[in-house]
Amino acid sequence: MEKLYINKEQFSDLLNLHYGVFHPLKNFVNEKSFKSILISHKINKKFFPFPIYFGVSEEKYKKYRYKKYLNIYYKKKDIGIIKINNFFKIKNELFGKKLFGINYKKHPYYIKFLKENFAFIDFSYKKLNKKNLNHKNFETPQKFKEKLNKKIKSRKFLAGFHTRNVPHLAHQWIHFFMLKKYKNILIQPLINQYKEDEYKESIIIKTNKAAVNMYDKNKAFFSTYFSFPRYGGPCEAALHAIVRKNYGCTHCWIGRDHAGYKSFFKKYSSQQFCKKNEKKMGINIISEDEPYFCSKCEKIVNKKCSLKNCNKKYKKNVSGTIIRSLIKRKKKINNYLMNKNISTLLNSNSLIKK
Ligand SMILES: [Zn+2]
Repeated sequence: MEKLYINKEQFSDLLNLHYGVFHPLKNFVNEKSFKSILISHKINKKFFPFPIYFGVSEEKYKKYRYKKYLNIYYKKKDIGIIKINNFFKIKNELFGKKLFGINYKKHPYYIKFLKENFAFIDFSYKKLNKKNLNHKNFETPQKFKEKLNKKIKSRKFLAGFHTRNVPHLAHQWIHFFMLKKYKNILIQPLINQYKEDEYKESIIIKTNKAAVNMYDKNKAFFSTYFSFPRYGGPCEAALHAIVRKNYGCTHCWIGRDHAGYKSFFKKYSSQQFCKKNEKKMGINIISEDEPYFCSKCEKIVNKKCSLKNCNKKYKKNVSGTIIRSLIKRKKKINNYLMNKNISTLLNSNSLIKK
């Protein structure tokens, strides 16, 4: 039987679908569900915001288009045998516009999408090799919840925090805010970054674990979201919330411009879209104002300062972009931006180079 090699992103989607991370989506989309997710955010009448598809290049399409079965491999791992129902196509414009808005042609994930996907495969599994369905950085929701239940016998809330960054002090402000309000938190960074000047995944894991270790070990938990960034704004933000629900969270922080990219989305559209659909998703959305550093009070705040005379000129943004730019230029990361125990773990090798 012919072998079809899949990449790490496809492998992560496969694991996430198989282990219920993307529940209620259980399989890669077929033509019907692909369109229905794009047009009405639904599969089988249930809310689902982002299509998880299995695409192939033109070269592979020509090679496999008349095959009935293929043996899927990820690196040296034999994943299993798929039975092909059909190959199909989706209008690029529909995909682009629905997910990335009117300027979609310039969006990096749309460009990547065009490059990698000539057609999509609608398939079912004839055989899956369960023993190969794992990765050192992937934890199933079931395993995570078992671990959690051993630590805390009765929990009312678990608030999820999504990030694809090294935690800075505004992130830690959010961690404290959620610990105080919801008692238990899950810090779950998205890994498998691929763009130049993003953090390497080993760094994201190490530093977020370091942050978790600063908190009460019976209240703060760590796991990874073994996927990859799609910069898909509101629809991807909603996917992030669904993922947290499946890992046992009752609440999820959705930030300003969550899963955004440059100016493709409006600042609050991710929060608004998630808030609007929170009942359908079955998870509460925390949509607070973004924290920043007030240089007069010398602390992180997210509302007007208690001192009435603090005006805008004291407001300093604390953002991953600022910090990554400092790292790149080998500049010192100021203590108002990041906890020393975390900044000490960073250097210019922490970023992806092309
Ligand atoms: Zn102030």
